[in-house]
Amino acid sequence: MKFATRAIHAGQDADPATGATIVPIYQTATYTQEEIGEHQGYEYSRTGNPTRAALERCLASLEEGALGLAFASGSAATVAVLSVLKPGDHIVAMDDLYGGTYRLLSQVYAPLGIDVTYVDGRQVEAFSQAMRPETRLVWLETPTNPMLRLVDIAAVAEVARSQGALLAVDNTFATPYLQKPLILGADVVVHSTTKYLGGHSDVVGGATVTSDPELHRAMAFYQNAAGAVPGPFDAWLVMRGLKTLAVRMRQHEANTRHVAEYLAGHPRVRQVYYPGLDSHPQHELAQRQMEGFGGMVSFELPGGRAEANAFAMALRVFSLAESLGGVESLACYPPEMTHGSIPREERLARGITDGLMRLSVGIEDVEDLVEDLEQALAAAQR
Ligand SMILES: *Cc1c(COP(=O)(O)O)cnc(C)c1O
Repeated sequence: MKFATRAIHAGQDADPATGATIVPIYQTATYTQEEIGEHQGYEYSRTGNPTRAALERCLASLEEGALGLAFASGSAATVAVLSVLKPGDHIVAMDDLYGGTYRLLSQVYAPLGIDVTYVDGRQVEAFSQAMRPETRLVWLETPTNPMLRLVDIAAVAEVARSQGALLAVDNTFATPYLQKPLILGADVVVHSTTKYLGGHSDVVGGATVTSDPELHRAMAFYQNAAGAVPGPFDAWLVMRGLKTLAVRMRQHEANTRHVAEYLAGHPRVRQVYYPGLDSHPQHELAQRQMEGFGGMVSFELPGGRAEANAFAMALRVFSLAESLGGVESLACYPPEMTHGSIPREERLARGITDGLMRLSVGIEDVEDLVEDLEQALAAAQR
């Protein structure tokens, strides 16, 4: 079956107990046993819950992997992957990572004796040069936040495989609708389902998908042992979001192309970062590796923080907020919001200048979005 069909049906048969067409929210902590040890596969909801299980099957299907796990957040899913490491192991990660992942690697795992080398994800050779005999894991994200840089997943998968390391790809920005890392050779995909998969900015969640049974078993052990699981209602909300993922992504994509082109033609905008623009240095890789360019775009205002703040304050349809991937349009000021914990020198080195704005383009009418940007850009110059 095709993607949009699986998004609605995979893992979601009619409820065996009642025939309910929609998977019920099994709001229960425990399950009654017929006799000691006689149960229907569920004993306690940290270990397993039918609503969560349906979500996990659907996520696995969309990523074209065998096995999915759902977590209470994207960060919890990240930790589930990291849980397979032990002191002395080494990680090669790209330097343009989600801030929370960087914080976990540098402030939680490095002090435990798990060393991390950060590399420029645009150079495949940087990954091979950083590999050591004890490298167990390679971690990447593509497109990146907020600079929308790309990493060649298939090429890095080769490097990881030849050295016996696992490759984890955070696929939050692209979603499986636009990019399938497992097909490109990754061992595990990680998601913050808080973003596009949930799609409505009303739930925090995470997921892992892999086709490697041993890796899945280790992460499932961790999921049950640490217990950072989503409640049944949160699992249900993400599953409801998935049903419209295909139509939402098509509209995010169409709106964002329009917005990116509008911004690129605006005299006050210095630079636009969007993989769908011909001017993007990795546009060709984006065409090869993705089936579309997504809903995130960043751009640079020459007037620095003052102009960025005036622009943000003048917005009426876009909300000034962190997060991304919801149906509503959001604007974010990375230097002080998502990337505020990175020292300024390092931020500047990564291109996150004082005039950088990031947009998560929603699925409102694109004319209203462009009109809003137009008036806010004008207001910011006054
Ligand atoms: C938000 C995000 C995360 C973390 O997910 P949470 O659900 O906030 O814990 C990880 N990676 C990326 C790319 C994200 O955008």
